Amino acid sequence: MIKLRLLLAASLFIAPCAMAEGPIAIAVHGGAGTITPDQMTPERELAIRAALEQAVKAGHAVLDEGGSSLDAVTEAIRIMEDAPEFNAGRGAVLTEAGRVEMDAAIMDGATLEAGAVASVTGLRHPIDAARRVMTDSPHVMLMGEGAEVFARQFELEEKPTEWFITDFRRDQLRAIQAEPQASTQLSEDWYSTVGAVAIDRAGNLAAATSTGGMANKRWGRVGDSPIIGAGTYANNQTCAVSATGHGEFFIRYVVAYDICARMAYTARPLAQTSDEVVNLVLKNAGADGGVIAIDRHGRISMPFNTTGMYRAAIHRDGRLEVGIYRDDNRDDNRDEASDSEISPH
Ligand code: ASP
Repeated sequence: MIKLRLLLAASLFIAPCAMAEGPIAIAVHGGAGTITPDQMTPERELAIRAALEQAVKAGHAVLDEGGSSLDAVTEAIRIMEDAPEFNAGRGAVLTEAGRVEMDAAIMDGATLEAGAVASVTGLRHPIDAARRVMTDSPHVMLMGEGAEVFARQFELEEKPTEWFITDFRRDQLRAIQAEPQASTQLSEDWYSTVGAVAIDRAGNLAAATSTGGMANKRWGRVGDSPIIGAGTYANNQTCAVSATGHGEFFIRYVVAYDICARMAYTARPLAQTSDEVVNLVLKNAGADGGVIAIDRHGRISMPFNTTGMYRAAIHRDGRLEVGIYRDDNRDDNRDEASDSEISPH
């Protein structure tokens, strides 16, 4: 009898905790690179900050209403795909032939399911196609024409070529191709791929990335963004990551997966493993770029080894952060760095 009472008392105490909802948090990026105030007009900077803020707030609203992290990252990416400031969807960089060929990926940290498309044209929201690959096909990655035929089954919105191409990208391609080494050169000084990572109330992590790749690319070049483990990765046990930077390095160093794997193997916090991979491993390899990442407690890290990274977050305490340069939000990781409990598995 006493035992029963004790059990009852214990269950009364435990029940509300078991049902308690976890923290929500989200981060987005709009690319990393040689971003300095003198290259930026005040109008462009304002437009970029506004687009980042709009995307992160829209994703957060999904989480706040009880939506999934998959829905939150999809929503944030769709907004950035439409924003001409970023290298994804409308405003994507141009290939050597002046075309727009886009890559996107999404991953569910709860199930390790993932979907990706590579080298697709005409789709307003490549991220929707990537998500359909995850949910409506037995595959992880579809490419080119096949991916477009697959996407058409779901009546995903298509746009004419001209809709995607901005004057900024036309001028950028012209400038790159005027250089003597243009035939071998990809545009390296400016990456503006978009990405999002989030945790929902159920504790599920998700990551998504969308891009036009690198300017002046040819031969069907595909970077890290749609490659699961390189530019995009999510696992509820550790973290969710979306990357931006020189894709060839991110593929070879399996960056997104490496950040999560280091957490699992060494039980160190995300702030450490993400910083180590971006500022030691990649930097030593001569690779420019950065990541946004979130762990299973909702702690966000956004390290980059370039002069800037377009980024925004709404932390688990509700704090909104929008940054471009290194000096923006100097105390970014104060919440994240202080709490290091990760259980190895
Ligand atoms: N990582 C992308 C790629 O190599 C480029 C970017 O981040 O903007 O395709």
